[in-house]
Order: sequence, then structure tokens, then C-alpha cells
Amino acid sequence: MNQVPAIKLNNGTLMPQLGYGVWQVPDAEAERAVGAALEAGYRSIDTAAIYRNEAGTGKAVAASGLAREELFVTTKLWNGPKQKWGRDQVLRAFDDSLAKLRLDHVDLYLIHWPRPMRDDFVAIWKTFEEIAASGRAKAVGVSNFRPADLARIAAESELVPAVNQVELHPLFPQPELRAVHAERGIATEAWSPLGQGKELLTLPAVTAMAAAYGRSAAQVVLRWHLQHGNVVIPKSVTPARIRENLDVFGFELSAADMAALDALGAGTAGRRIGPDPAEFDV
Ligand code: NAD
Repeated sequence: MNQVPAIKLNNGTLMPQLGYGVWQVPDAEAERAVGAALEAGYRSIDTAAIYRNEAGTGKAVAASGLAREELFVTTKLWNGPKQKWGRDQVLRAFDDSLAKLRLDHVDLYLIHWPRPMRDDFVAIWKTFEEIAASGRAKAVGVSNFRPADLARIAAESELVPAVNQVELHPLFPQPELRAVHAERGIATEAWSPLGQGKELLTLPAVTAMAAAYGRSAAQVVLRWHLQHGNVVIPKSVTPARIRENLDVFGFELSAADMAALDALGAGTAGRRIGPDPAEFDV
């Protein structure tokens, strides 16, 4: 049974609060991995043009036999190549993603990185507004945007992004950014929600809490996100972990345990795992 609650985005679209991320899953494996996730009960899939597994993801979606309206598919514009991202280029990239996914619409389309040094994300966003108006994306949003980038979008365009997908986990909790999202009506989606399965899941504070709840460290961390209202997209290619990461609705962390996990991130502003959006431009 799928117990994943839905978050209502700022345009009324419903988004499952927990989904399956497919970064670093090779295209040839994506069909099996996404198929296992759909079989386990996930209904939201997070891919991107640069992950180069939209085709495998699309095959799994088609093979699942699930009704399109039961699924929530996210992909992202790879505004990577140093070219001018005019309207035509953005629309062509979007068409290409839809074709690979074998879909006539996605549920969420994101600008993958702000690349502020190029000064072109507002122009890209204007084409995203057009894509949203066409209905070929039920909602549009951004990824890795900083408060200043969100302020520019607000000042220079009409549409508020539905989602900002950013690195976020107990060791990099981004409280200021979450407050900005709340103020602007933007849903917070956490990438690398498990801290990529590294240090975070081995911290004594986390493993002791997991033992106390009779759950895994990953499940405890996912509960922390859900109770903060974050959308999460944990990734695994191991069927048992794929199921485990979805099985997080039968328990709740106490307020004291939430506070203990919050405390892990205090003073860790520099502890991101991934690139800094202020500098990232490849
Ligand atoms: P994650 O935090 O989801 O960690 C995934 C890793 O954690 C796995 O590879 C595995 O090693 C481990 N793991 C998973 N489940 C586990 C479990 N139950 N127990 C123990 N270990 C477990 O990291 P991620 O893959 O970087 O992020 C998730 C998704 O976020 C990606 O697949 C992608 O869809 C998205 N993402 C987006 C961006 C972006 O720029 N927008 C960047 C990175 C990731």
C-alpha cells in the first residue's frame, strides 16, 4: 500500500513527499531499478537530462502498466553546455527529455543549476513559464538556487517556482534557505537526503537513535526530513534498501530526537557534499 503523503505545490499540483532518485544509475540499469521502485510502491521518480537515464526511466514507466495520473515524473534542464540558452534551445531540450521519457508531459521540470556567473537563468525561467502554461509540465521549478537567485526570479518574472531542489540533510540543513522557501511558497526538495549514505549514517547519534526505534539509520534520517516537511528522493539500486527507504510511515521521531538531529547541523554551513551553486558551472 502506498502511504506516501502528498505535498500541495503552489499551483495546486500534488507531489508525493517521498520519491525515488536515479542519479548515477546507468541507463541500462535504470529500467530495472526504476521498475523495482515502482513495484515497491514509489510513485514519484526524479531524473534529469544529465543523468542520461531518461530512456531507461521511460521504459520502466511504460512497462509498469500504471496509469499516468498515478505517477509523478521530474526531469531537469541541463543548462550545462556553454551556449546561449535561448527559448528555442530550452524548448528543444525539453522536447528531447519528453521523447526519451516517452511522455507527453512531465509533472515537474527544473532548471538544474543557477550558474549565476552566466546571468541567464531569468531568461531560461521565462521559457519555463511558457512550458508551464502549455501544460506539458504540470509544475516548474528550480534546483540549487540560492536566496539571491530566488529573489531575482521574483523581481523579474511572474511565476514563483513550485519547488527548489537543493542539497539538504542533517549535516547540511540549510535553515535560512528553508525559511526563504516558506516565505515565498516554494516547496523544499532535498537532494542527497541520506548524505549519500556516507558519514551521516554512521554517526553514533544517528545509529543509537535508529536502534532505539528499531529502525535503520536511513529510515531515521528520512523521518527527520518528512517531519520537517521536506520532499525527499533517496536513491538506492538495492531492492531491499529501495523498500526500506519507503517504509518510513509507521513511526515518528519525538520532538527531542528531531532537535538532536537538528543539532548535528549546527555550525556545519561548510559541510556540503556536492558543489557550491555560487561556483558550479560545468
Ligand atoms: P542519497 O542521499 O539518496 O544517498 C544515496 C546512497 O546512500 C546510495 O547510493 C547508497 O550508497 C546509500 N543508501 C541508500 N539507501 C540506503 C539505506 N537504506 N541504508 C544505507 N545506505 C543507503 O544521495 P543521492 O543519490 O546523491 O541523492 C538522491 C537523489 O537526489 C539523486 O538520485 C538525484 O535524483 C537527486 N540529486 C539531485 C541533484 C541536483 O543537483 N538537483 C544532485 C544530487 C542528487
